[in-house]
Amino acid sequence: MKTTDRPEPVPPRRRRRPARSAAPPEIRLMGDATVGGVAIGPAMLVLESPTPDIDPTARADDPDHERARLAEAIERSVRQIERLRDRLAILPEDGQIEIGSLLEVYRRMLGPSRLQRGIHDRITRGGRTAELAVREETESLAQALLRDAAGAGGEDTATAQRRAGEFREIGQRLLRNLGRAPFRSFSAVPAGTVLVAEQLRPADAALIDPSRIVAVATEEGGSTGHTAIMLRALGIPTVLAAHRLTASARDGATMVVDGTTGQVVIDPTEDTLAVARRGVAEHARERQALGRLRRLPARLSSGEKLQLQANLELPAELPLIAQSGASGIGLLRTEFLFMNAMTMPDEDRQAAIYAEIIGTMAGDSTTIRVVDWGGEKHSDALERAGLNQEGDTINPALGMRGLRLLLRYPTVLETQFAAILKASVAGPVRVMLPMVTTVLELREARDLYHRVARRLRRKGVPLGDTLPPLGIMVETPAAAIMGDALAQEAEFLAIGTNDLTMYTLAVDRASADVASLYHPLHPAVLRLIQAATEAALRQYRPISLCGEIAGDPRVVPLLVGLGLRSFSMTASAVPRVKRAVRALSFEDCRRLAHRVMEASDVVEVTRLIDDFAAGA
Ligand code: PEP
Ligand code: MG
Repeated sequence: MKTTDRPEPVPPRRRRRPARSAAPPEIRLMGDATVGGVAIGPAMLVLESPTPDIDPTARADDPDHERARLAEAIERSVRQIERLRDRLAILPEDGQIEIGSLLEVYRRMLGPSRLQRGIHDRITRGGRTAELAVREETESLAQALLRDAAGAGGEDTATAQRRAGEFREIGQRLLRNLGRAPFRSFSAVPAGTVLVAEQLRPADAALIDPSRIVAVATEEGGSTGHTAIMLRALGIPTVLAAHRLTASARDGATMVVDGTTGQVVIDPTEDTLAVARRGVAEHARERQALGRLRRLPARLSSGEKLQLQANLELPAELPLIAQSGASGIGLLRTEFLFMNAMTMPDEDRQAAIYAEIIGTMAGDSTTIRVVDWGGEKHSDALERAGLNQEGDTINPALGMRGLRLLLRYPTVLETQFAAILKASVAGPVRVMLPMVTTVLELREARDLYHRVARRLRRKGVPLGDTLPPLGIMVETPAAAIMGDALAQEAEFLAIGTNDLTMYTLAVDRASADVASLYHPLHPAVLRLIQAATEAALRQYRPISLCGEIAGDPRVVPLLVGLGLRSFSMTASAVPRVKRAVRALSFEDCRRLAHRVMEASDVVEVTRLIDDFAAGA
């Protein structure tokens, strides 16, 4: 690999202040608690080196020259990304996966992508300089993503923000390489340093050596962005968005960063330090204890066995699942196959992806949910495949979504069924339908499933004697209320409390305006969970819960008391939930559920759950 023309990394600019004689007063700031844990260390203040100014009115006389400059900047950016990739080996396994997949995204953007086409177009047709074309195109793609996500689900907004950040990040890299501006380097950081920055870009996180940097605190950024995800994977206590941080901190000042509470202390007093030291020790003990739980069974102290599985959004998360001690995948969201894609992966491509995931689970079961595309979510791939999501629906959450969309345009569903069936020889698998509201929908999908299986058999595709079970998500009040009828025909049920809460309380799960009204523990939601669970148990149908509350150790005792035995959650929550359930007896859970189900408001429910968790 040629590296000679790379701008040399410069040490981060540091802010110096004159030494003071008296001990400076302690300063406490609050930010977003992003990665749990406490750390103490000297600050290293890293200020943003400015990106070159761009004149928005500048026009290029020679487009060929601009295109050549762009090609050179792209080549240089690719080399830098390759070098970052070479450095991944020093990171912990989780970090390697997270950062590796992000670098892969950058690498693809720098290839023959829509981004590159757009930049070229602006130079050729719009007469822009390479800098202006890069700035305009990356910003326009970022804005388009954010616009598409506006008003959409919370996860969609967070995903759009992340992807918009990726475009901006790659734009910054190209601009720096066009202007040959230097990059930051954290390689000379002494061990034990607390990194204090205005903002940390995801690529900066790739430069962090977790054996040297004990904590990160920044003034900007949000806890759902890529940087946050990566710092989480690296396990470095982190507080983001701490207002006035860089104005208050100085190089070398002692810092306490508490990523669990979101507090940052500059120049802590002896008392504060003593408390922080206890926090550091506790965090280390907690990590060790959670690590030891991995191989232990998820069994109540009274003997009942629970199933704790993981939700999977991206194949890149697979190694985290193995580390978490989850016993299988309880919800594989297949939306990732259709995101960022212009064409839908065909049957064989999908089958290969599913088979790889199923095979990795080494005998533990994988529940694959067919795509749950929402009315407001845009997918080029699905539109091109003929799925008209009818975006003019006034209320998209009540429009063409999930199973009803798939049944209206069944080719996507047929392809997915066929791919899953083909992959099912790789290990135990179940097929799940999203957003079911009627028994008729279930029957229609089931008929299609059997038709696809017959067609494959006729073609000589090897399928087992019995097909993988076909089950449903219970995420609408209709499905919960009709649980007994649905349980007669669905081979398993999985309660999705994220949507069930939204549809029961008439509160958009993604709207900040009504976020304070979104309560998965509202008695109305709990009654529907109870009804669906009892309906399934009466018919001996397996039932699980895979909404976000499955990963909350405070809530799981109540769910166990309501009769649930199977939960699927984000992989990182498995050890904590396992620890909580191993300390519980079924009788205690049952008693808690009795008390909770008599409560008529969410405040009372929360109090009962908190008291139970506190052992009161
Ligand atoms: C749910 O609605 O609870 C669920 C698990 O599905 P999703 O979050 O993917 O909509
Ligand atoms: Mg859902």
